[in-house]
Amino acid sequence: MVLEKYKQKRNFDSTPEPAGDVTLATTRAKKRARTDGLFFCVQKHLASHLHYDLRLEYKGVLLSWAVPKGPSLDARTKRLAMHVEDHPIEYGDFEGVIPSGYGAGIVMLWDRGTWTPEVDDVDAALKKGDLKFTLEGYKLKGSWVLVRTRGGPGGDAGRSWLLIKHRDDWAGDVNITEFAPLSVKSSGDFADILSKGRPEIWISHRPAQGGEAGAMFQRIVERALEMRDATKTTTTTKTAPTTKARKAASTTKVTKTPKATAKATRRKRSS
Ligand code: MN
Repeated sequence: MVLEKYKQKRNFDSTPEPAGDVTLATTRAKKRARTDGLFFCVQKHLASHLHYDLRLEYKGVLLSWAVPKGPSLDARTKRLAMHVEDHPIEYGDFEGVIPSGYGAGIVMLWDRGTWTPEVDDVDAALKKGDLKFTLEGYKLKGSWVLVRTRGGPGGDAGRSWLLIKHRDDWAGDVNITEFAPLSVKSSGDFADILSKGRPEIWISHRPAQGGEAGAMFQRIVERALEMRDATKTTTTTKTAPTTKARKAASTTKVTKTPKATAKATRRKRSS
């Protein structure tokens, strides 16, 4: 069944992720496979570990690979990409907080656009384990390849692929995940996304406790709580804050969290 694994892994009473319409996906899958203007996205996902989920629309679903280190624009750098369950097309717009359960953490829509296969037969390419394609996103562009490897970590044979940039005008040595870290949907970072939800859910029992991901959660939860509290102060001062009141609130924020503000300013400049 289409999207069976996707559905099995999730409890849609407790995750804000789209449930995905199986009938719709099946209908879409029956249509002649399009080869132009296909949707693609990359979701930056902080869960037990930080990773980037590459999703390519094909036959009514999003084929998905989890890329632990994220894509590299350097043609010499091969990035491990674990093939994971197909996701519904509706997932392509998803950004938000998964409070608990499978994939618990924060999802940011990091890039989106269209992809074009560079082969005539995508099914054959997938079967062979060698899919060449072109991306036209905000951050990722040009020619890429996904190649299946023989073995894989933890004996995950068949699920482990490599994502590699082809040499072209869009290749280069810029570290794209550091250079363009923010959401293409909201322009925010993980803390911004969390602050719009309920950052208090992770004061304890975070999706990752130790290691790099644990440290990231620690910082993000603290900043999200600060942002949320700053918003609260603003809204309780006056029902309709005047420009002056808003200015005062933002000044308070500056004195309170100079580090975060400096960071935000840098982010604004770079985006
Ligand atoms: Mn993921």
